[in-house]
Amino acid sequence: MVFDATDLLVLPGLVNTHHHLYQTLTRALPGAQDSGLFDWLRTLYPIWARMTPEDVDLATRTGLLELAHSGCTTAFDHQYLWPNGSSVADQVAAAHEIGIRFHVSRGSMSLGESDGGLPPDSVVEEPDTILADTIRVIDEFHDPAPGSMTQVVVAPCSPFSVTPELMRASAELARDKGVRLHTHLAETVDEEDFCVQRFGARPIQYAEDLDWAGDDVWYAHGVFVNPAEITAMAATGTGVAHCPTSNMRLASGIAPVAAYLEAGVPVGLGVDGSASNDGSHLLAEVRQAMLLARLAAAPGIGPQMAARTALELATLGGARLLGRTDIGSLEPGKCADFFTLDLRRLEFAGALHDPVAAAVLCAPVPARDTYVGGRPVISGGECTCLAHEEHWIDEHNRAALRLAESAG
Ligand code: ZN
Repeated sequence: MVFDATDLLVLPGLVNTHHHLYQTLTRALPGAQDSGLFDWLRTLYPIWARMTPEDVDLATRTGLLELAHSGCTTAFDHQYLWPNGSSVADQVAAAHEIGIRFHVSRGSMSLGESDGGLPPDSVVEEPDTILADTIRVIDEFHDPAPGSMTQVVVAPCSPFSVTPELMRASAELARDKGVRLHTHLAETVDEEDFCVQRFGARPIQYAEDLDWAGDDVWYAHGVFVNPAEITAMAATGTGVAHCPTSNMRLASGIAPVAAYLEAGVPVGLGVDGSASNDGSHLLAEVRQAMLLARLAAAPGIGPQMAARTALELATLGGARLLGRTDIGSLEPGKCADFFTLDLRRLEFAGALHDPVAAAVLCAPVPARDTYVGGRPVISGGECTCLAHEEHWIDEHNRAALRLAESAG
């Protein structure tokens, strides 16, 4: 195949390492626009509990397509509640149709309100059910081969929604099956307080005590960590999905990304769920990561995070978190996952002396083309996978309104 890239910047496909695609159904929801994590979750859990398999299918398509339009070619999704018969199979089918490389999770919640957890009992599952279904999902969908389009991650939700027993059993199961582990950790002060009061340990220590450390583990957020914990994470190769927009949107805090990188902790980027970001634009997230790292640095101290460093987090960094050596850069022998930006656009006028830096420093633009494994998902700015995109966006809007109204 010959691809004419005249006037285009070609970059390796971006890798998203944390998302909750179903949350595209509750973007900008009144009542959950201005609160911190715990209140935000308490408002949204009952609405998410009403989702149907059709809603999950629509949301998966919406989120993945939005990611693809922003240059993303591989996405990890952390879905941890499965109401009304929804399942991993709905998501895998949707991702396959879109054509994006998909790392799906069999996420879970097992610690309901009546046992001291945050989520209502109606959205948590029995541990035995979770573990049995996780094995089934791995056996059915996980493909570890180079060039794989579908992989499965074991992903219990968070310390305040999962029991320690299920965390430990999940780690054991994942290692037995040779798949990776992911969970939310050290995201907010509220979570840290919860861990100290209930488990007598800070979040990182709590996770390590349950065998949740190693180069097959990555945490979402990692905001509230101290220097000793960063050193411990580097020693075990435990990684972090940095989600700058979500951390700002929920006023959670600023992850110490510079300290992570200096210590050698693997770091990738995630847009996080579309209700705590309201967007799935991964190139915009690269820009946010660069800007937030600069804001977090001491004023006047040394050079700031470079545009290329931020891009590396979203490419090679993300590939490393997902355990993939076949994506993340453009070189012979790797998958042909790439996206292009049209350098003739207004946003890049005056910036062509360094197009790579311009892709991050200038206003984020949509990809002109996004190719996964040499196949177009976006071509000339249009998606190639759905014949009636407008109709399908209408359907998504209808589903979102129905969910919001049923809550009211
Ligand atoms: Zn999340």
